[in-house]
Amino acid sequence: MPKRGPWYSTRPVATKHHDNSLCIEGNNIEDRNLARGTGKLPLCRRCAELNAAGK
Ligand SMILES: [Zn+2]
Repeated sequence: MPKRGPWYSTRPVATKHHDNSLCIEGNNIEDRNLARGTGKLPLCRRCAELNAAGK
């Protein structure tokens, strides 16, 4: 199960965080815009679906 700590994008303005390394949207965040943690933001829908599918 590929997992890593939560992260989010600081640009554009963050509206959600990611916690599944298979999330395409999460993986598309450029390193310079990447922040660790949840940012107190809701979980990305795609991540939630991947998590629910056990991925
Ligand atoms: Zn995501």
